[in-house]
Amino acid sequence: MFADLHLHTNFSDGTFTPEELVANAVKQKLCAIALTDHDTLEGCERAAAACATAGIEFITGSELTAEQDDHEIHILGYFLDTQNEKLRTETGKFQLVRQNRIREMVARLNDLNIPLDVEDVFKLANCRAPGRPHVARALVKAGLIATLDEAFERFLKKDRPAWVPKMKTSAPDAIALIHQAGGLAVMAHPGLNRADQVIPGLVDAGLDGLECFHTKHPKATSEHYLQMAKQHGLLVTGGSDCHGLNKGRPLVGTVRLPYHRVEKLKAAVENRKSEIGNRK
Ligand code: AMP
Ligand code: FE
Ligand code: FE
Ligand code: ZN
Repeated sequence: MFADLHLHTNFSDGTFTPEELVANAVKQKLCAIALTDHDTLEGCERAAAACATAGIEFITGSELTAEQDDHEIHILGYFLDTQNEKLRTETGKFQLVRQNRIREMVARLNDLNIPLDVEDVFKLANCRAPGRPHVARALVKAGLIATLDEAFERFLKKDRPAWVPKMKTSAPDAIALIHQAGGLAVMAHPGLNRADQVIPGLVDAGLDGLECFHTKHPKATSEHYLQMAKQHGLLVTGGSDCHGLNKGRPLVGTVRLPYHRVEKLKAAVENRKSEIGNRK
């Protein structure tokens, strides 16, 4: 029994609909999945319905963009209450930041004599949480650039000419937002950050877990973070970070988290709930 706890749909920068994602999870014989679109929970209702039909377990989630000590940190929230008022308000704000950033990036491209129409980007993205991959896809679609990689390399990567820094919430605020919505907060793909020195600060802020298993974590990296999780008393998660078909073959199911890890997460959420209940 295996789970994949890091997946995107076209409600952010993935290409699959929630139903297509679930169909692929079934094909991969997963018994549980979590949807973790960037800064939104909108795909969760449809993904949950598709999972119920398919007979696999669904965990509500989102991947929040945050920062700690000048590092962009992605915080995964799991078991979130999608109706939580504050979570809905705050993710709404994060989405506006994303939309405004797209406008700024396209304006920079226009200044560089790249005639990309921002409305074409929004049309292609067709979601409230657009990101740089949508700009890259729109550039390719308009024939202004050959490949998505080239779009990032020439224009969109950090410090390239069309890159615009993203206003981010602080990691402690993101963790608190997740907690008040009943969720667990997990640092995504720490191996991509290469900033282990931020982890103790996140732990102090209430971090619950580390994503030890990820597509871009070689075995030694996973082992390193398993060790860190143990050292700090953190839960262990893992996921493929599948974005659909835009990065070659779909990754869903290529990182397989043993289900006993999911059971530990569920026990931690239940514990948290009963603690809050006892305090009331
Ligand atoms: P954003 O959230 O707008 O800053 O865009 C970040 C997203 O872009 C990540 O979640 C990845 O899906 C994607 N991405 C980041 N860097 C690259 C890259 N060099 N090539 C392709 N996709 C990338
Ligand atoms: Fe992404
Ligand atoms: Fe991420
Ligand atoms: Zn992701």
